Amino acid sequence: MLRNDQLDQWDHDHFFHPSTHLAQFARGELKNRIVTGGEGVYINDREGNRLLDAFAGLYCVNIGYGRQEVADAIAAQAKELAYYHSYVGHGTEASVTLAKMVIDRAPENMSRVYFGLSGSDANETNVKLIWYYNNILGRPEKKKIISRWRGYHGSGLMTGSLTGLDLFHKKFDLPLSQVLHTEAPYYYRRADLSMSEADFVAHCASELEAMIEREGADTIAAFIGEPVLGTGGIVPPPAGYWEAIQTVLRKHDILLVADEVVTGFGRLGTMMGSNHYGIEPDIITIAKGLTSAYAPLSGSIISKKVWQVLEQGTDEFGAIGHGWTYSAHPIGAAAGVANLKLIDSLGLVANAGDTGAYFNKGMTDAVGKHKNVGDVRGEGMLCAVELVEDRDNRVFFDPARKVGPSVAAALLKRGVIARAMPQGDIIGFAPPLCLSREEADTIVSATADALKEVCG
Ligand code: PMP
Repeated sequence: MLRNDQLDQWDHDHFFHPSTHLAQFARGELKNRIVTGGEGVYINDREGNRLLDAFAGLYCVNIGYGRQEVADAIAAQAKELAYYHSYVGHGTEASVTLAKMVIDRAPENMSRVYFGLSGSDANETNVKLIWYYNNILGRPEKKKIISRWRGYHGSGLMTGSLTGLDLFHKKFDLPLSQVLHTEAPYYYRRADLSMSEADFVAHCASELEAMIEREGADTIAAFIGEPVLGTGGIVPPPAGYWEAIQTVLRKHDILLVADEVVTGFGRLGTMMGSNHYGIEPDIITIAKGLTSAYAPLSGSIISKKVWQVLEQGTDEFGAIGHGWTYSAHPIGAAAGVANLKLIDSLGLVANAGDTGAYFNKGMTDAVGKHKNVGDVRGEGMLCAVELVEDRDNRVFFDPARKVGPSVAAALLKRGVIARAMPQGDIIGFAPPLCLSREEADTIVSATADALKEVCG
Protein backbone atom coordinates (compact mmCIF):
# COMPACT_ATOMS: atom_id res chain seq x y z
CA MET A 1 0.00 0.00 0.00
CA LEU A 2 1.24 3.49 -0.81
CA ARG A 3 2.30 5.80 1.99
CA ASN A 4 -0.12 8.66 2.63
CA ASP A 5 2.42 11.33 1.72
CA GLN A 6 3.20 9.58 -1.58
CA LEU A 7 -0.47 9.34 -2.45
CA ASP A 8 -1.06 12.98 -1.53
CA GLN A 9 1.81 14.06 -3.75
CA TRP A 10 0.52 12.11 -6.77
CA ASP A 11 -2.99 13.36 -6.10
CA HIS A 12 -1.73 16.94 -5.98
CA ASP A 13 0.41 16.56 -9.10
CA HIS A 14 -1.65 14.36 -11.43
CA PHE A 15 -5.26 13.78 -10.51
CA PHE A 16 -7.89 16.10 -12.03
CA HIS A 17 -10.73 16.28 -9.51
CA PRO A 18 -14.06 17.04 -11.18
CA SER A 19 -16.29 19.84 -9.87
CA THR A 20 -13.43 21.20 -7.79
CA HIS A 21 -11.85 24.64 -7.33
CA LEU A 22 -8.64 23.64 -9.11
CA ALA A 23 -6.55 26.59 -7.94
CA GLN A 24 -7.56 26.20 -4.30
CA PHE A 25 -6.76 22.51 -4.50
CA ALA A 26 -3.36 23.24 -6.04
CA ARG A 27 -2.60 25.74 -3.26
CA GLY A 28 -3.53 23.19 -0.61
CA GLU A 29 -6.50 25.27 0.63
CA LEU A 30 -8.77 22.36 -0.14
CA LYS A 31 -7.82 19.17 1.58
CA ASN A 32 -8.10 15.89 -0.30
CA ARG A 33 -9.84 12.86 1.15
CA ILE A 34 -8.84 9.38 0.06
CA VAL A 35 -11.76 7.08 0.74
CA THR A 36 -10.82 3.53 1.58
CA GLY A 37 -13.95 1.63 2.44
CA GLY A 38 -17.55 1.72 3.49
CA GLU A 39 -20.26 -0.24 5.20
CA GLY A 40 -23.95 0.56 5.44
CA VAL A 41 -24.26 4.35 5.61
CA TYR A 42 -20.64 4.88 6.70
CA ILE A 43 -17.44 5.47 4.75
CA ASN A 44 -13.85 5.31 6.00
CA ASP A 45 -10.92 7.40 4.88
CA ARG A 46 -7.13 7.07 4.95
CA GLU A 47 -6.87 9.27 8.02
CA GLY A 48 -8.92 6.79 9.99
CA ASN A 49 -12.18 8.79 10.02
CA ARG A 50 -15.50 6.99 9.93
CA LEU A 51 -18.13 9.30 8.48
CA LEU A 52 -21.89 8.97 8.19
CA ASP A 53 -22.51 9.65 4.51
CA ALA A 54 -25.81 11.51 4.57
CA PHE A 55 -25.53 12.17 0.82
CA ALA A 56 -24.97 8.56 -0.32
CA GLY A 57 -21.96 9.60 -2.39
CA LEU A 58 -23.73 11.80 -4.92
CA TYR A 59 -27.20 10.55 -4.01
CA CYS A 60 -26.40 7.27 -5.62
CA VAL A 61 -25.34 4.56 -3.14
CA ASN A 62 -28.95 3.74 -2.40
CA ILE A 63 -28.40 0.26 -0.95
CA GLY A 64 -25.52 1.50 1.22
CA TYR A 65 -21.86 0.54 1.10
CA GLY A 66 -20.25 -2.88 1.25
CA ARG A 67 -23.05 -5.12 -0.04
CA GLN A 68 -21.55 -8.53 -0.63
CA GLU A 69 -24.33 -9.65 -2.99
CA VAL A 70 -23.53 -6.95 -5.53
CA ALA A 71 -19.77 -7.43 -5.22
CA ASP A 72 -20.28 -11.16 -5.86
CA ALA A 73 -22.48 -10.53 -8.90
CA ILE A 74 -19.87 -8.17 -10.36
CA ALA A 75 -17.06 -10.68 -9.72
CA ALA A 76 -19.03 -13.57 -11.21
CA GLN A 77 -19.85 -11.55 -14.34
CA ALA A 78 -16.24 -10.38 -14.72
CA LYS A 79 -15.04 -13.96 -14.51
CA GLU A 80 -17.60 -15.37 -16.92
CA LEU A 81 -17.65 -12.56 -19.46
CA ALA A 82 -16.30 -9.14 -18.58
CA TYR A 83 -17.34 -7.56 -21.85
CA TYR A 84 -19.21 -7.97 -25.02
CA HIS A 85 -20.92 -5.21 -26.97
CA SER A 86 -24.62 -4.89 -27.60
CA TYR A 87 -24.56 -3.63 -31.20
CA VAL A 88 -26.47 -5.37 -34.02
CA GLY A 89 -28.53 -7.61 -31.82
CA HIS A 90 -25.91 -8.71 -29.28
CA GLY A 91 -26.42 -8.77 -25.53
CA THR A 92 -25.86 -10.73 -22.36
CA GLU A 93 -28.20 -12.43 -19.95
CA ALA A 94 -27.51 -9.65 -17.45
CA SER A 95 -28.37 -6.80 -19.85
CA VAL A 96 -31.57 -8.43 -21.12
CA THR A 97 -32.67 -9.38 -17.60
CA LEU A 98 -32.03 -5.88 -16.34
CA ALA A 99 -34.08 -4.36 -19.18
CA LYS A 100 -37.01 -6.58 -18.19
CA MET A 101 -36.60 -5.67 -14.50
CA VAL A 102 -36.53 -1.96 -15.29
CA ILE A 103 -39.66 -2.11 -17.46
CA ASP A 104 -41.43 -4.06 -14.70
CA ARG A 105 -40.65 -1.19 -12.31
CA ALA A 106 -41.41 1.67 -14.72
CA PRO A 107 -44.75 3.44 -15.21
CA GLU A 108 -47.19 2.07 -17.79
CA ASN A 109 -46.65 2.34 -21.50
CA MET A 110 -42.89 1.98 -21.36
CA SER A 111 -41.33 -0.29 -23.91
CA ARG A 112 -37.53 -0.48 -24.16
CA VAL A 113 -34.41 0.47 -22.22
CA TYR A 114 -31.25 1.85 -23.82
CA PHE A 115 -28.35 1.46 -21.37
CA GLY A 116 -25.53 4.00 -21.13
CA LEU A 117 -22.99 4.79 -18.45
CA SER A 118 -23.92 8.06 -16.77
CA GLY A 119 -26.90 10.30 -16.26
CA SER A 120 -25.28 12.79 -18.61
CA ASP A 121 -24.89 10.39 -21.51
CA ALA A 122 -28.43 9.08 -20.96
CA ASN A 123 -29.81 12.59 -21.38
CA GLU A 124 -27.62 13.12 -24.47
CA THR A 125 -29.20 9.92 -25.84
CA ASN A 126 -32.65 11.25 -25.02
CA VAL A 127 -32.14 14.49 -26.93
CA LYS A 128 -30.75 12.65 -29.95
CA LEU A 129 -33.68 10.22 -29.96
CA ILE A 130 -36.14 13.10 -29.67
CA TRP A 131 -34.56 14.85 -32.63
CA TYR A 132 -34.55 11.60 -34.61
CA TYR A 133 -38.21 11.07 -33.67
CA ASN A 134 -39.26 14.46 -34.99
CA ASN A 135 -37.21 14.05 -38.16
CA ILE A 136 -38.91 10.73 -38.85
CA LEU A 137 -42.29 12.35 -38.24
CA GLY A 138 -41.42 15.03 -40.82
CA ARG A 139 -41.11 17.86 -38.27
CA PRO A 140 -37.52 18.99 -38.74
CA GLU A 141 -38.16 22.36 -37.06
CA LYS A 142 -39.48 20.81 -33.83
CA LYS A 143 -36.15 20.55 -31.99
CA LYS A 144 -35.85 22.92 -29.02
CA ILE A 145 -35.79 21.48 -25.53
CA ILE A 146 -37.24 23.33 -22.55
CA SER A 147 -35.66 22.76 -19.18
CA ARG A 148 -36.06 24.64 -15.88
CA TRP A 149 -33.76 27.07 -14.16
CA ARG A 150 -32.11 25.08 -11.37
CA GLY A 151 -32.76 21.79 -13.18
CA TYR A 152 -29.78 19.42 -13.28
CA HIS A 153 -29.39 17.06 -16.21
CA GLY A 154 -25.66 16.50 -16.55
CA SER A 155 -22.53 18.32 -17.56
CA GLY A 156 -21.98 17.38 -21.21
CA LEU A 157 -22.48 19.89 -24.02
CA MET A 158 -26.20 19.38 -24.42
CA THR A 159 -26.87 18.16 -20.91
CA GLY A 160 -24.80 20.93 -19.36
CA SER A 161 -26.97 23.27 -21.42
CA LEU A 162 -30.13 21.65 -20.07
CA THR A 163 -28.78 22.09 -16.56
CA GLY A 164 -30.13 25.43 -15.36
CA LEU A 165 -27.29 26.38 -13.02
CA ASP A 166 -24.96 29.20 -13.87
CA LEU A 167 -21.84 27.39 -12.65
CA PHE A 168 -22.25 24.75 -15.35
CA HIS A 169 -22.52 27.33 -18.15
CA LYS A 170 -20.06 30.00 -17.13
CA LYS A 171 -16.96 30.10 -19.36
CA PHE A 172 -18.01 26.94 -21.21
CA ASP A 173 -19.95 28.82 -23.92
CA LEU A 174 -23.15 27.16 -22.78
CA PRO A 175 -26.09 26.84 -23.03
CA LEU A 176 -26.35 25.73 -26.65
CA SER A 177 -28.95 27.59 -28.69
CA GLN A 178 -31.50 24.74 -28.86
CA VAL A 179 -32.12 24.92 -25.12
CA LEU A 180 -34.55 27.23 -23.30
CA HIS A 181 -35.06 27.59 -19.55
CA THR A 182 -38.33 28.27 -17.82
CA GLU A 183 -39.36 29.02 -14.22
CA ALA A 184 -38.21 26.60 -11.50
CA PRO A 185 -41.05 25.15 -9.38
CA TYR A 186 -39.43 26.61 -6.29
CA TYR A 187 -42.21 28.10 -4.23
CA TYR A 188 -39.99 29.24 -1.37
CA ARG A 189 -37.99 31.41 -3.80
CA ARG A 190 -40.97 32.82 -5.69
CA ALA A 191 -40.37 36.42 -6.73
CA ASP A 192 -43.71 37.65 -5.41
CA LEU A 193 -44.04 36.67 -1.76
CA SER A 194 -47.76 37.39 -1.75
CA MET A 195 -48.41 34.59 -4.27
CA SER A 196 -50.27 31.53 -2.95
CA GLU A 197 -48.95 28.07 -3.85
CA ALA A 198 -51.84 27.53 -6.27
CA ASP A 199 -51.19 30.87 -7.95
CA PHE A 200 -47.51 30.03 -8.22
CA VAL A 201 -48.32 26.73 -9.97
CA ALA A 202 -50.59 28.58 -12.40
CA HIS A 203 -47.78 31.08 -12.94
CA CYS A 204 -45.25 28.29 -13.75
CA ALA A 205 -47.68 26.76 -16.24
CA SER A 206 -48.49 30.08 -17.88
CA GLU A 207 -44.80 31.05 -18.12
CA LEU A 208 -44.19 27.74 -19.89
CA GLU A 209 -47.10 28.24 -22.23
CA ALA A 210 -46.07 31.81 -23.01
CA MET A 211 -42.59 30.55 -23.92
CA ILE A 212 -44.04 27.86 -26.18
CA GLU A 213 -46.29 30.38 -27.92
CA ARG A 214 -43.51 32.92 -28.27
CA GLU A 215 -41.14 30.38 -29.85
CA GLY A 216 -43.88 28.51 -31.75
CA ALA A 217 -45.01 25.05 -30.64
CA ASP A 218 -43.76 23.66 -33.94
CA THR A 219 -40.19 24.47 -32.80
CA ILE A 220 -40.41 22.86 -29.34
CA ALA A 221 -39.67 19.14 -29.16
CA ALA A 222 -39.58 18.33 -25.47
CA PHE A 223 -39.65 19.43 -21.86
CA ILE A 224 -37.27 17.85 -19.37
CA GLY A 225 -37.60 17.95 -15.60
CA GLU A 226 -36.71 16.08 -12.44
CA PRO A 227 -39.77 15.02 -10.43
CA VAL A 228 -38.09 16.76 -7.45
CA LEU A 229 -35.49 19.42 -8.28
CA GLY A 230 -32.23 17.89 -7.03
CA THR A 231 -28.91 19.64 -7.37
CA GLY A 232 -30.76 22.93 -7.87
CA GLY A 233 -31.76 22.84 -4.20
CA ILE A 234 -33.73 19.66 -3.35
CA VAL A 235 -37.14 21.16 -3.94
CA PRO A 236 -40.30 19.04 -4.08
CA PRO A 237 -42.79 20.59 -6.51
CA PRO A 238 -45.76 22.55 -5.23
CA ALA A 239 -49.04 20.60 -5.23
CA GLY A 240 -50.56 20.30 -8.69
CA TYR A 241 -47.39 21.39 -10.52
CA TRP A 242 -46.93 18.29 -12.68
CA GLU A 243 -50.58 18.13 -13.62
CA ALA A 244 -50.52 21.77 -14.75
CA ILE A 245 -47.29 21.33 -16.72
CA GLN A 246 -48.49 18.15 -18.44
CA THR A 247 -51.70 19.85 -19.52
CA VAL A 248 -49.66 22.49 -21.36
CA LEU A 249 -47.31 19.95 -22.91
CA ARG A 250 -50.12 17.74 -24.21
CA LYS A 251 -51.91 20.71 -25.71
CA HIS A 252 -48.83 21.60 -27.75
CA ASP A 253 -47.71 18.04 -28.62
CA ILE A 254 -44.45 18.31 -26.68
CA LEU A 255 -42.69 15.22 -25.33
CA LEU A 256 -41.97 14.92 -21.63
CA VAL A 257 -38.68 13.55 -20.31
CA ALA A 258 -38.74 12.71 -16.60
CA ASP A 259 -35.17 12.82 -15.36
CA GLU A 260 -35.30 10.22 -12.61
CA VAL A 261 -31.57 9.90 -12.13
CA VAL A 262 -32.03 10.82 -8.46
CA THR A 263 -35.64 9.81 -7.88
CA GLY A 264 -35.60 6.44 -9.69
CA PHE A 265 -35.64 3.18 -7.71
CA GLY A 266 -37.01 4.28 -4.43
CA ARG A 267 -35.64 7.58 -3.21
CA LEU A 268 -39.06 9.21 -2.78
CA GLY A 269 -40.57 6.15 -1.13
CA THR A 270 -42.06 4.99 -4.42
CA MET A 271 -40.28 2.92 -7.04
CA MET A 272 -40.22 5.86 -9.48
CA GLY A 273 -40.82 9.56 -8.91
CA SER A 274 -43.20 9.55 -11.87
CA ASN A 275 -45.56 7.27 -9.92
CA HIS A 276 -45.26 9.59 -6.95
CA TYR A 277 -46.46 12.68 -8.80
CA GLY A 278 -48.68 11.22 -11.53
CA ILE A 279 -46.17 12.02 -14.24
CA GLU A 280 -46.72 10.24 -17.57
CA PRO A 281 -43.39 10.62 -19.33
CA ASP A 282 -42.46 9.73 -22.89
CA ILE A 283 -38.87 9.03 -21.86
CA ILE A 284 -37.35 8.46 -18.41
CA THR A 285 -33.70 8.96 -17.51
CA ILE A 286 -32.25 6.58 -14.93
CA ALA A 287 -28.75 6.13 -13.47
CA LYS A 288 -27.48 6.32 -9.85
CA GLY A 289 -30.01 4.04 -8.07
CA LEU A 290 -30.04 1.61 -11.02
CA THR A 291 -26.81 0.06 -9.73
CA SER A 292 -26.47 2.08 -6.50
CA ALA A 293 -23.23 3.19 -8.20
CA TYR A 294 -21.54 -0.18 -7.67
CA ALA A 295 -20.75 0.07 -11.39
CA PRO A 296 -21.41 2.90 -13.85
CA LEU A 297 -24.70 2.34 -15.67
CA SER A 298 -27.54 4.57 -16.83
CA GLY A 299 -30.60 4.11 -18.95
CA SER A 300 -33.17 5.77 -21.15
CA ILE A 301 -36.58 4.17 -20.77
CA ILE A 302 -38.48 4.70 -24.01
CA SER A 303 -42.28 4.71 -24.20
CA LYS A 304 -44.23 2.68 -26.72
CA LYS A 305 -45.23 5.88 -28.49
CA VAL A 306 -41.61 6.94 -29.13
CA TRP A 307 -40.37 3.41 -29.77
CA GLN A 308 -42.80 2.86 -32.66
CA VAL A 309 -41.40 5.89 -34.45
CA LEU A 310 -37.78 4.84 -33.85
CA GLU A 311 -38.52 1.44 -35.40
CA GLN A 312 -40.21 3.10 -38.33
CA GLY A 313 -37.14 5.31 -38.81
CA THR A 314 -34.78 2.37 -39.12
CA ASP A 315 -37.04 0.78 -41.72
CA GLU A 316 -36.73 3.96 -43.74
CA PHE A 317 -33.11 4.93 -43.05
CA GLY A 318 -31.23 1.90 -41.77
CA ALA A 319 -29.66 1.03 -38.41
CA ILE A 320 -29.86 3.78 -35.83
CA GLY A 321 -26.54 5.61 -35.69
CA HIS A 322 -26.28 5.75 -31.93
CA GLY A 323 -24.37 3.54 -29.52
CA TRP A 324 -21.46 3.48 -27.10
CA THR A 325 -18.81 0.78 -26.85
CA TYR A 326 -19.92 0.32 -23.26
CA SER A 327 -23.71 0.46 -23.80
CA ALA A 328 -25.26 -2.20 -21.53
CA HIS A 329 -21.85 -3.19 -20.17
CA PRO A 330 -22.26 -6.68 -18.68
CA ILE A 331 -20.60 -5.77 -15.37
CA GLY A 332 -22.85 -2.76 -14.91
CA ALA A 333 -25.87 -4.84 -15.88
CA ALA A 334 -24.94 -7.61 -13.42
CA ALA A 335 -24.56 -4.98 -10.69
CA GLY A 336 -27.97 -3.55 -11.67
CA VAL A 337 -29.73 -6.92 -11.45
CA ALA A 338 -28.21 -7.68 -8.02
CA ASN A 339 -28.97 -4.13 -6.82
CA LEU A 340 -32.64 -4.17 -7.84
CA LYS A 341 -33.08 -7.58 -6.21
CA LEU A 342 -31.60 -6.22 -2.98
CA ILE A 343 -33.81 -3.12 -3.06
CA ASP A 344 -36.79 -5.50 -3.16
CA SER A 345 -35.57 -8.05 -0.62
CA LEU A 346 -34.51 -5.41 1.91
CA GLY A 347 -37.73 -3.41 1.45
CA LEU A 348 -35.73 -0.25 0.76
CA VAL A 349 -38.46 1.60 -1.13
CA ALA A 350 -40.77 1.33 1.87
CA ASN A 351 -37.92 2.28 4.21
CA ALA A 352 -37.19 5.39 2.13
CA GLY A 353 -40.81 6.39 2.64
CA ASP A 354 -41.05 5.56 6.37
CA THR A 355 -37.61 6.44 7.66
CA GLY A 356 -37.47 9.33 5.20
CA ALA A 357 -40.65 10.83 6.70
CA TYR A 358 -39.24 10.28 10.21
CA PHE A 359 -35.98 11.96 9.18
CA ASN A 360 -37.74 14.94 7.58
CA LYS A 361 -39.98 15.42 10.60
CA GLY A 362 -37.01 15.14 12.95
CA MET A 363 -35.12 17.76 10.95
CA THR A 364 -38.11 20.13 10.89
CA ASP A 365 -38.65 19.75 14.63
CA ALA A 366 -34.97 20.25 15.42
CA VAL A 367 -34.05 23.22 13.23
CA GLY A 368 -37.27 24.48 11.61
CA LYS A 369 -37.69 27.36 14.04
CA HIS A 370 -34.06 28.50 14.08
CA LYS A 371 -33.77 32.21 13.23
CA ASN A 372 -31.60 31.44 10.17
CA VAL A 373 -33.63 28.57 8.77
CA GLY A 374 -36.04 29.76 6.11
CA ASP A 375 -37.27 26.40 4.88
CA VAL A 376 -36.96 22.71 5.72
CA ARG A 377 -38.32 20.55 2.93
CA GLY A 378 -38.05 17.08 1.54
CA GLU A 379 -39.71 13.96 0.26
CA GLY A 380 -38.80 10.38 1.04
CA MET A 381 -35.07 10.11 1.63
CA LEU A 382 -34.36 13.67 0.45
CA CYS A 383 -34.19 16.65 2.75
CA ALA A 384 -32.94 20.23 2.52
CA VAL A 385 -32.42 22.99 5.04
CA GLU A 386 -32.34 26.46 3.47
CA LEU A 387 -30.45 29.08 5.45
CA VAL A 388 -31.37 32.75 5.35
CA GLU A 389 -30.18 35.89 7.06
CA ASP A 390 -33.68 37.02 8.03
CA ARG A 391 -36.42 34.40 7.97
CA ASP A 392 -39.32 36.81 8.50
CA ASN A 393 -38.46 38.88 5.46
CA ARG A 394 -36.82 36.01 3.51
CA VAL A 395 -33.52 37.82 3.11
CA PHE A 396 -30.86 35.48 1.75
CA PHE A 397 -27.25 35.52 2.95
CA ASP A 398 -24.62 37.11 0.77
CA PRO A 399 -23.11 34.04 -0.98
CA ALA A 400 -19.62 35.42 -0.28
CA ARG A 401 -20.17 34.66 3.43
CA LYS A 402 -20.38 30.97 2.56
CA VAL A 403 -22.80 30.18 5.37
CA GLY A 404 -24.03 26.97 3.70
CA PRO A 405 -20.51 25.57 3.17
CA SER A 406 -19.61 26.54 6.76
CA VAL A 407 -22.54 24.56 8.15
CA ALA A 408 -21.60 21.59 5.95
CA ALA A 409 -18.01 21.85 7.26
CA ALA A 410 -19.30 21.97 10.84
CA LEU A 411 -21.34 18.84 10.12
CA LEU A 412 -18.26 17.10 8.77
CA LYS A 413 -16.41 17.91 12.01
CA ARG A 414 -19.20 16.00 13.72
CA GLY A 415 -18.71 13.03 11.42
CA VAL A 416 -21.64 13.64 9.05
CA ILE A 417 -21.33 14.27 5.32
CA ALA A 418 -24.01 16.59 3.95
CA ARG A 419 -23.81 18.64 0.77
CA ALA A 420 -23.72 22.39 0.48
CA MET A 421 -25.81 22.65 -2.68
CA PRO A 422 -24.14 24.66 -5.46
CA GLN A 423 -26.57 27.59 -5.67
CA GLY A 424 -27.88 29.16 -2.46
CA ASP A 425 -27.15 28.41 1.20
CA ILE A 426 -28.87 25.05 1.15
CA ILE A 427 -27.73 21.99 3.10
CA GLY A 428 -28.78 18.86 1.24
CA PHE A 429 -29.31 15.37 2.63
CA ALA A 430 -29.87 12.23 0.57
CA PRO A 431 -28.79 9.29 2.69
CA PRO A 432 -28.72 5.68 1.54
CA LEU A 433 -32.23 4.23 1.50
CA CYS A 434 -31.23 1.75 4.21
CA LEU A 435 -30.88 4.55 6.79
CA SER A 436 -32.16 3.54 10.24
CA ARG A 437 -34.06 5.79 12.66
CA GLU A 438 -31.03 5.94 14.95
CA GLU A 439 -28.83 7.07 12.07
CA ALA A 440 -31.47 9.66 11.11
CA ASP A 441 -31.35 10.96 14.70
CA THR A 442 -27.56 11.24 14.46
CA ILE A 443 -27.80 13.38 11.31
CA VAL A 444 -30.50 15.59 12.82
CA SER A 445 -28.68 16.28 16.07
CA ALA A 446 -25.38 16.92 14.26
CA THR A 447 -27.20 19.41 12.02
CA ALA A 448 -28.71 21.25 14.98
CA ASP A 449 -25.26 21.44 16.63
CA ALA A 450 -23.52 22.54 13.43
CA LEU A 451 -26.11 25.25 12.89
CA LYS A 452 -25.63 26.49 16.42
CA GLU A 453 -21.88 26.62 15.97
CA VAL A 454 -22.09 28.66 12.74
CA CYS A 455 -25.19 30.80 13.25
CA GLY A 456 -25.67 30.84 17.01
N1 PMP B 1 -29.74 14.05 -14.02
C1 PMP B 1 -29.87 14.28 -12.72
C2 PMP B 1 -31.24 14.56 -12.18
C3 PMP B 1 -28.77 14.24 -11.87
O1 PMP B 1 -28.91 14.51 -10.57
C4 PMP B 1 -27.51 13.94 -12.41
C5 PMP B 1 -26.26 13.84 -11.55
N2 PMP B 1 -26.30 14.41 -10.32
C6 PMP B 1 -27.42 13.73 -13.78
C7 PMP B 1 -28.54 13.78 -14.56
C8 PMP B 1 -26.10 13.46 -14.43
O2 PMP B 1 -25.63 12.24 -14.07
P1 PMP B 1 -24.08 11.90 -14.20
O3 PMP B 1 -23.36 12.73 -13.19
O4 PMP B 1 -24.04 10.43 -13.92
O5 PMP B 1 -23.66 12.21 -15.59
